[in-house]
Amino acid sequence: MATDSNKFQAIIAHCKEYGFIFPSSEIYDGLGAVYDYGQWGAELKKNIKDHWWHSMTRMYENIVGIDAAIFMHPTTWKASGHVDNFSDPMIDNKDSNKRYRVDHLIEAKASELEGEGHAEQAEILLKQMDELLAADDLAGLRTLIETNRIACAVSGTVNWTDVRQFNLMFSTEFGAVSSDTEDNKIYLRPETAQGIFVNFLNVQKTGRMKIPFGIAQIGKAFRNEIVARQFIFRMREFEQMEMQFFVRPGTQKQWYEFWKEERMKWHLALGISPDKYRFHDHVKLAHYADAACDIEYDFPIGFKEVEGIHSRTDFDLKQHQEFSKKKMQYFDNDIDPETGKPYGNYIPYVVETSIGVDRTVMLLLSEAYEEQDLSTEERADSRVVLKLPAKLAPIKLAVLPLVKKDGLPEIARGILDDCKAHFKCFYEEKDTIGKRYRRMDALGTPFCVTVDHQSKEDGTVTIRYRDTMQQERVPLASLREMVLREIA
Ligand code: ATP
Repeated sequence: MATDSNKFQAIIAHCKEYGFIFPSSEIYDGLGAVYDYGQWGAELKKNIKDHWWHSMTRMYENIVGIDAAIFMHPTTWKASGHVDNFSDPMIDNKDSNKRYRVDHLIEAKASELEGEGHAEQAEILLKQMDELLAADDLAGLRTLIETNRIACAVSGTVNWTDVRQFNLMFSTEFGAVSSDTEDNKIYLRPETAQGIFVNFLNVQKTGRMKIPFGIAQIGKAFRNEIVARQFIFRMREFEQMEMQFFVRPGTQKQWYEFWKEERMKWHLALGISPDKYRFHDHVKLAHYADAACDIEYDFPIGFKEVEGIHSRTDFDLKQHQEFSKKKMQYFDNDIDPETGKPYGNYIPYVVETSIGVDRTVMLLLSEAYEEQDLSTEERADSRVVLKLPAKLAPIKLAVLPLVKKDGLPEIARGILDDCKAHFKCFYEEKDTIGKRYRRMDALGTPFCVTVDHQSKEDGTVTIRYRDTMQQERVPLASLREMVLREIA
């Protein structure tokens, strides 16, 4: 497995230096696996969310979006199975007291073996792990770790505790009374999906939705991840973009395949090469699923999940029906060709697509980040450029007067006024033009225009393209339409 930890570290440093992502509450030394988005990270993230939202709720006429609360009635999480099942097998090293997720520990060993040219051994190890995970064989997992001499990275020893399950949900108290009882315990949602399930009938009835239809949502989710040292790849507070698609029972397989294909198309439409992606089918299915896979991207830390596609059966709606004692049925008046009668009442099946906003940010940064050596015989030169898709870039157009005088700033501000209601622009008059270009490259700005003395005479400006660094003169009156075309 190819990993490039230098590139990963360089991206983290770049994000901090250029106002994309900061450690949370950094002045107090940060908080583990919690991050804040700075001025440009927030723009990038918002563009990703808008893009996903539009592609779900505009491009499919049978998908609508909602925005449910983070807090939900605590019974929701009993019904969904999260109170009992939302846990990961963990193991502690007795010498370092460090805790590891068992699958991560074994996967790391497999990568190591692969790196040493023992691909076959790595494959066997992963296969054994998958089988033990599928069988919930915790003792077997411990034996697998010990017999393969998988050591703790800190202590270097193979002195392990038993494997135990840890629940990943955060809880807090609801209302004024704080007590140790379970009465007012409430959870921070670990996934946004349940907000959709409990609103399924509200949306279906008020929206007069006919099956098949989908409900999309973007929102925060919280997981008390035990191993969380992978920047925004694995956070304790993160954001998800989920879509639950409600289908007639028996058709779920076909819709599962449909959404696998549609979602891969969405990724590839970002201009990313297909060999950077792969599907990974789940061997151990979650308690609610009859089929599941991940879309994995080749991050600098190796191929990892960015999106999950799950066929969740009627599990969630059925559970909510049972726990709430409210019917979760849909009446389907389409005619069943086999019986010649309407399909009638049933609890729909669900196929979901679930992608992390932050992992998408990480994906785009990994794809976009490039250190280029631009040295010539005369002089050494280099640049860092973020080749972000223009549509998602934080700033679309930088407007740069060559000098701070002679009426050039006024012309530049005129361009800004013409464009700023349509897309994010940035005005800068400080530093040499070369330095300003480099700064914009580092922020991923696809277009820079320079206003110079000729602009005063003939109404043209120099446009400079980020990726090729090529420049050409264009009428300033054409700029707005040109950028709009490029980011459409
Ligand atoms: P993993 O196996 O990596 O922990 P998961 O299978 O638990 O992920 P899902 O429950 O399928 O993840 O969640 C759907 C999506 O939410 C994931 O594909 C990922 O993009 C995102 N996601 C899940 N957990 C985190 C996290 N801790 N930090 C950031 N994003 C996350």
